[in-house]
Amino acid sequence: MLRRVIGLQFPEEIAPGQMGMGWLFLIEGTIKETVMGPRGKPVEVAQSHCFYGKASRISPTDALLRVPAVHALHQRTIAVVGLGALGAPMALEFARNQVGKLRLSDYDHVEPGPTVRWPLGIATAGQLKAEAIHEFISAHYPATQVLPIYHKVGGLRGEGMPSEQEVMDTLLTDASLLIDASADKGVSHFLAETARARGIPFISVYATPGGWGGMVMRVAPGHTRGCWMCLQYHMDTGGTIPVPISDETAGTVQAPGCGDMTFTGASFDLQNVVLAAVRLAVSTLSSGVAGGYATTPWDVGVVQLMDADGSLVAPAWSTFPLEVHPLCPYCHCE
Ligand SMILES: [Zn+2]
Repeated sequence: MLRRVIGLQFPEEIAPGQMGMGWLFLIEGTIKETVMGPRGKPVEVAQSHCFYGKASRISPTDALLRVPAVHALHQRTIAVVGLGALGAPMALEFARNQVGKLRLSDYDHVEPGPTVRWPLGIATAGQLKAEAIHEFISAHYPATQVLPIYHKVGGLRGEGMPSEQEVMDTLLTDASLLIDASADKGVSHFLAETARARGIPFISVYATPGGWGGMVMRVAPGHTRGCWMCLQYHMDTGGTIPVPISDETAGTVQAPGCGDMTFTGASFDLQNVVLAAVRLAVSTLSSGVAGGYATTPWDVGVVQLMDADGSLVAPAWSTFPLEVHPLCPYCHCE
């Protein structure tokens, strides 16, 4: 049983040549021990006990000492739509790097099977994905505030449920960045235009069936010339930006008991796409910040992880600026 904690504060050298205050803690209490009694029978007695408790430092300064380039992130709010194999690990990276606020939108529950490529394991099965990630971040990275949002973009609006625009207000008001990890082209289209209408930087990320390739793209207002729809035209018309390679034969499967098709692909392949998207996000959020993370001179990155015959290649990224496409109806409507 804990009786008391004694704290001792003393001057010490906390960095070469820099004096500060150090702490040492003594924890005093009792522990139960079984000893041999007078008639040879074991009896339980409370023994006084005192031990040394190691003091550890935790503050924003201590965290930023190791990654000084992310110092502006605690003032940023990132909205993430889609907490699957790409969006969920991105959210954890943002929290690990001291992003101030996260708004996390997803409509799905954690299933045991997909945990092979999800950042949290089967202990979270049955929870809403947004709630599971919220709980984990609150416990492990409490400097990041998380707002979980249970919502399916474009889904049926139930009785008493907020409208699409009300959800977008909750998600995006004063947001610094919108991440689209929905893996749904229709949702990506809607989110890209919503971000543009609100003047919010937008990043979309997806991986291809088989985990053979992927793409990250961004639209930074005032920096990127084209838009998400321009990118679709650049890819669909065989233009300057290639469609990421995918496994055409075995890249999609239907799991037993699941009504939707899903894609195959390993976590360690998908992480290539996740980390590129996080780098692009942190770079975009650090734009113009003195001492911030490096700037990114491109808007679209396409990665190839496999050859067309399925043999493994070292991750090869091709990067492109996102120019206005002459057929884009959004960029030529004036
Ligand atoms: Zn456009």
